Amino acid sequence: MLRYTGHPFVDVGAATLTAFAEKERPEHLTSDDLQVAAEYMEKVYMGKHMNSFLVCVFPNSAYVNPTSGADKKQQFLDFHLYGFRQAATPEAPPCVACGQRALGPTFRQHVPLLTGEDVLNFFPNAQPGLPLCGACLLAIAALPLGALKCSGRALILHADDDSITLDFAREHLERNRRLLQLAGQSNSKYPDAKEVRTRLMEQLCAWAERQRRRGSETRALSLTAYHFTNSGQGPDIDIYHLPSQLVDFVRTATGARYASAWNAIVRRAWWAGRDASDAADTRNVFYEDLLRLPDNAPLFIRRYFLREAYRAAPKDDPRGGYNLAAELDVVSWPLTDLFLRKVVNMDRSRIEAIRALGDRLAEYIESQNDRRFWRRLYTADKYYILRNALIKASESEIKAGRPPLITFDDFILVFEEGEELVRTDWGLARDLALIRVIEQLHARQWFAKNPEALSEESDTSESDEEKEAATA
Ligand SMILES: [Zn+2]
Repeated sequence: MLRYTGHPFVDVGAATLTAFAEKERPEHLTSDDLQVAAEYMEKVYMGKHMNSFLVCVFPNSAYVNPTSGADKKQQFLDFHLYGFRQAATPEAPPCVACGQRALGPTFRQHVPLLTGEDVLNFFPNAQPGLPLCGACLLAIAALPLGALKCSGRALILHADDDSITLDFAREHLERNRRLLQLAGQSNSKYPDAKEVRTRLMEQLCAWAERQRRRGSETRALSLTAYHFTNSGQGPDIDIYHLPSQLVDFVRTATGARYASAWNAIVRRAWWAGRDASDAADTRNVFYEDLLRLPDNAPLFIRRYFLREAYRAAPKDDPRGGYNLAAELDVVSWPLTDLFLRKVVNMDRSRIEAIRALGDRLAEYIESQNDRRFWRRLYTADKYYILRNALIKASESEIKAGRPPLITFDDFILVFEEGEELVRTDWGLARDLALIRVIEQLHARQWFAKNPEALSEESDTSESDEEKEAATA
């Protein structure tokens, strides 16, 4: 009777009905299950508590239109909620979602983002309206229960794995039922969350936690979130695609092994003025920037893993206050390494060479207490400055009878494409090596003994020798 179809609205609704019946697959639902769900929806949708939510999903429907008479109301409910009980005529066109005989054409008051009955816009067979069967219609009617109300719109999540779509729908259904139960005792307005990107990432993190608790298998999957309104003032939809690399990174990074670094970054990314009592209103800039990946991954690394302040940050933006010297304990190579593997897709041998370089540099800086070299490494904004610093320090190590800081092969692998041809992302490689160096030096208390190493004023002027090398 009911099944997943690949259409996100129908699927999230079908998952919501499945969760409502406490079953695992929509195919397992009987017409009794659908009847119980339809009756529940009639009760809560015709009540006033969900009104502000339903107005943005089903405007002009009998749920929210006070002007329609009792007969028209009943007609609407018989079609939208109880249509699954009606036998479709044999000549009816197939349902566009599942292929069963359709109940009739549907319009904007039945299905979000369709056109209204008075708009001449043709669907299959040159007929106005979208033909849907009673079961798919009931699934779409269930959408608000399987969605989060956010910024006056509905947010739903659809995964390429049906059991994950069901998991998100179940969470939303439970929350909505709780809210409706609470609202039954008061006259409060239906809660509306804010900052959809942050809420979306919170949901992803919470899902990852549930997966871990259940010991669910971890296969690759991607998610798509739909944030839509069907409102009369302007129907609109924003679609957020969460690729499998991002889902996989978040799933692993929120696990026990990385949790302390991850949580520290999340905690320091809340927009100022966050009120703990109403956390569903506040932005988290780390969460939001995660959604923009993999674009700008190098800047993301500098900002969140290397704690570089965002100088042009607007007031209340937490990134304006990022400060490496005060946040050394947030710098984590393992989390960076995970990010490089999952999100940046960096070659493993290059990651390993960068880590080994970082270890060697930290060892050198500590054993020789070479603060000048540290400053060069930390502040170099041109490749030749970095290169000359590495060469000079290597030469002094060789003179002292120790191995060089970096071998020629590793140098090429990390910084250059071929001999004398610098990689465009040398700055990224330097930042990554720095993350390892900082983590190691912090672990050895070197910064505690050399606090001036991270002070703002520093000697970044080039020596004559370096200027010569640059022009050579
Ligand atoms: Zn159908």
